[in-house]
Amino acid sequence: MPAFEEARSIVLENIIPLESQLVPLHNALGRAAAEDIAAAWDMPACDNSAMDGFAVRADDCRSLPVTLRISGYLPAGETATEGVEAGCAVKIMTGAPIPPGCDAVVPVEETEETSDTVTLTRTVSPGQHIRLKGEDVAAGTLFLAAGRRIGPPEISMLASFGKALVPVHRRARVGIVSTGDELLELGAAPRPGAIINSNAHALAAALREIGAEPVLLGIARDNLESHREKLSAGLSCDALITSAGVSAGDRDLVRDVLAELGVEQLFWKVEMKPGHPTAFGRKGNVPVFSLPGNPVSTMVTFEQFVRPALLKMMGHTRIVRPLLKAVLTEGVKKKAGRVHFVRVEVEARDGRLYARSAGDQNTGILNTMLRADAIAMLPADRTAIAAGEEVNIQLVRERLISYE
Ligand code: AMP
Ligand code: MG
Repeated sequence: MPAFEEARSIVLENIIPLESQLVPLHNALGRAAAEDIAAAWDMPACDNSAMDGFAVRADDCRSLPVTLRISGYLPAGETATEGVEAGCAVKIMTGAPIPPGCDAVVPVEETEETSDTVTLTRTVSPGQHIRLKGEDVAAGTLFLAAGRRIGPPEISMLASFGKALVPVHRRARVGIVSTGDELLELGAAPRPGAIINSNAHALAAALREIGAEPVLLGIARDNLESHREKLSAGLSCDALITSAGVSAGDRDLVRDVLAELGVEQLFWKVEMKPGHPTAFGRKGNVPVFSLPGNPVSTMVTFEQFVRPALLKMMGHTRIVRPLLKAVLTEGVKKKAGRVHFVRVEVEARDGRLYARSAGDQNTGILNTMLRADAIAMLPADRTAIAAGEEVNIQLVRERLISYE
């Protein structure tokens, strides 16, 4: 049985990135760049004004005050063709190219203007308030490396270079098969002994969060035929996730049927809690994640195995959440052998993070998951962690605070 870290390495070693495609810029959000992308030209493309004011020759402004003749007007979007003569200034708006001959801009707030003259009283240094050609990104500079996530700043830069189409990796289409005779589809009338197939919805939501496409394949009932039908449909996707039916119960058919369908099992059972019965296999390029059925176990194992794996598949190079240190506010005891994933609430105080249990840690308690900001990872070899000790946590949910 692999240790948790070993199991995760096995998963990641077996993931092959999907091919790339060109997509319209607005569809690139959240996806990984499939190629290194370099600046097609200098940005800014020419020296231009950082302020509304007057473009001047710093040499003309050595003895103050000085009055210059206004010889022109340059709004943003226009370029000056003629140079500016000594003793003259050009009224200029932010973003307009610096006219030939000028080497400084004086903000309008620092001037006194008449209809045809401008008087300056403050020292003018050469280069002031000028944005230089190429100072943001010089032509040919790499600004987006292959594998990096495209967020709003990357979209802004891509748009600035006229990239209407962007090379990204294809979204993974991920099959979701829930198993169990006790399951009802959302909308069906509740009956005793039955539960609603909530895992399919949790998994679909978690997939959408990372830019993958869920393919909801429904419920495999606890018989071989039903499992064969649903699981073989799932194997035509880019990846397959199954929920439940992977423990050692006599109705747990997932692993047997996957084997029959040609899926090579790479591990079954991991030294972790929750998530112990998790299995992982592969058929060709299609990874198959068999997650335990308890909703908390399903989400924790998705987070630890499926999320990084699919991010890798979709071309991302940054795939795991960083480990942060947090101080435990209460001591915990555990058995040696398994990594424990503990749902915690996190608070920042005096520059440190503090983690306290978000509630009942039983895997059957979904409500604790809703209250958790983070998952604390308690090392396999430890049996007790005292209050005040630091542990590793991963922030699994974006956490905003109320505006007061
Ligand atoms: P199993 O792995 O089949 O033993 O299921 C473990 C637990 O997870 C049982 O309590 C199931 O009722 C629950 N469970 C299984 N499948 C789902 C599902 N699709 N949605 C919500 N809970 C589930
Ligand atoms: Mg079952």
